[in-house]
Amino acid sequence: MEFGIAGKVALVTAGSKGLGRASAAALAAEGAKVVISARTEETLRATEAAIRSDGGEVHAIPADVTDPATPARLVAETKERYGSLDILVANAGGPPPGRALDLTDDQIDAAVNANLTTSVRLVREVAPTMQASGWGRICCITSWSIKQPMRELSLSNLARTGLWAWAKTAAYDLFPTGVTLNLICPGSHATDRMLQLGGSGVMGDPADFGRIVAFLCSQPASFISGAALMVDGAASAGLL
Ligand code: NAP
Repeated sequence: MEFGIAGKVALVTAGSKGLGRASAAALAAEGAKVVISARTEETLRATEAAIRSDGGEVHAIPADVTDPATPARLVAETKERYGSLDILVANAGGPPPGRALDLTDDQIDAAVNANLTTSVRLVREVAPTMQASGWGRICCITSWSIKQPMRELSLSNLARTGLWAWAKTAAYDLFPTGVTLNLICPGSHATDRMLQLGGSGVMGDPADFGRIVAFLCSQPASFISGAALMVDGAASAGLL
């Protein structure tokens, strides 16, 4: 299938490892010019070098995406480097484990900032550029917890369901301007985070996940918007 995104400019936040890195690599493999960002410069530069050695056009910007000033800086630097911004993959690190009744206010504030408000800020920053060009693709990496809350990850449940409710309405407002907005909801994938959380059993391949992100950001996916695509190997039990 022709994805039709060669030459498009993509920004992938939290893109040095795991699902973000796989998304950046898949977009670069489709010919997109990709900006990746994460906090740890050494890992970020290693990922930049790896994507480049595979023939991809990539530029790395060290940043903490949860800092409220970061989204505007990333968008400005991406446009300065490549002249436009067509694709956003909004990703951030996941919150720590915790049961619902044990959460502190500070933990809730941090998780909402990282896994809800940060994505809203990123979308707000990219939307005017995409709307002006009449073409845009936004994909937020969330979790299967939006459809089946996990008892040990109540911070993830709390923040990501809020993002899902916001994204449903934002997608409706963006669609007439040629911009799609979707959530992609991973189940267990073999990444550092999953290993830290003690994940086991059958896991998805991050590289496959990245290719699904690239599809959602493709030309033929133009009528998919306001969706939350589960990529969980049938793990979730909910019907909606
Ligand atoms: P990962 O392998 O641990 O990678 C996390 C990436 O995010 C790294 O590049 C990390 O780089 C970056 N990052 C973390 N905090 C950041 C920050 N404040 N600012 C900028 N970059 C930051 O994690 P992953 O498994 O790919 O997970 C990605 C997202 O999917 C997370 O939100 C996770 O909760 C969610 N998820 C994953 C799974 C799974 O099975 N893997 C399942 C459900 C949901 P630095 O640390 O250097 O910044």
